[in-house]
Amino acid sequence: MSSAPHTIHKKGSLMEEIHDAREISVQKCYQCGKCSAGCPLAEDMDYPPSVIMRLLQTEDRQNEAIALRSETIWLCVTCETCATRCPMEIDIPGVMDFCRQRSLEKKMTHPKAKNIIAFHKAFLDSIDYTGRLYELGLIADYKARSFQLGQDVALAPGMIAKGKLSFLPELIRDRKGLAAIFRKTLHRKGGRS
Ligand code: SF4
Ligand code: SF4
Repeated sequence: MSSAPHTIHKKGSLMEEIHDAREISVQKCYQCGKCSAGCPLAEDMDYPPSVIMRLLQTEDRQNEAIALRSETIWLCVTCETCATRCPMEIDIPGVMDFCRQRSLEKKMTHPKAKNIIAFHKAFLDSIDYTGRLYELGLIADYKARSFQLGQDVALAPGMIAKGKLSFLPELIRDRKGLAAIFRKTLHRKGGRS
């Protein structure tokens, strides 16, 4: 994670928000392109990571909106390849994560991100309720949210037979501690989206 406490940002810009919230200095990017060259998903993205960084650097509302409406921020899987390649040690996955959060809050999500968001929410629900990933619950929740009811159903019997899917969830002991983490996080975010 990198920070530049003496940098002056345009008031209220996304770049300023990212710096204040995550101590990430987007302005340090000098467009070498190493992040985009190494990103395993760059070919599928509408804008490669280095372009997202440039859009944010302009501190222009329209360019910021392009970044927030992009499919890129939802395709990023936080693999960290870009961050390890970046000569300025910029936490690019952290930037993507912040943009996802803002995109949801401002209702600017890319239409193709619908199923990805459904999966994110189903995943968080599973952790929230059990403290672990309960695969069967995750699948049911995701299908209900995404309306992909019939997709991959034929795979389920084989997975259950091989013990890959359990009917009952395993619960962690410290559910109160987990609930406190969720409360704190959601309070900071202003509630679940
Ligand atoms: S963290 Fe995201 S942007 Fe970076 S290389 Fe991985 S998928 Fe690409
Ligand atoms: S690798 Fe770092 S400096 Fe280079 S374009 Fe990507 S974010 Fe910018």
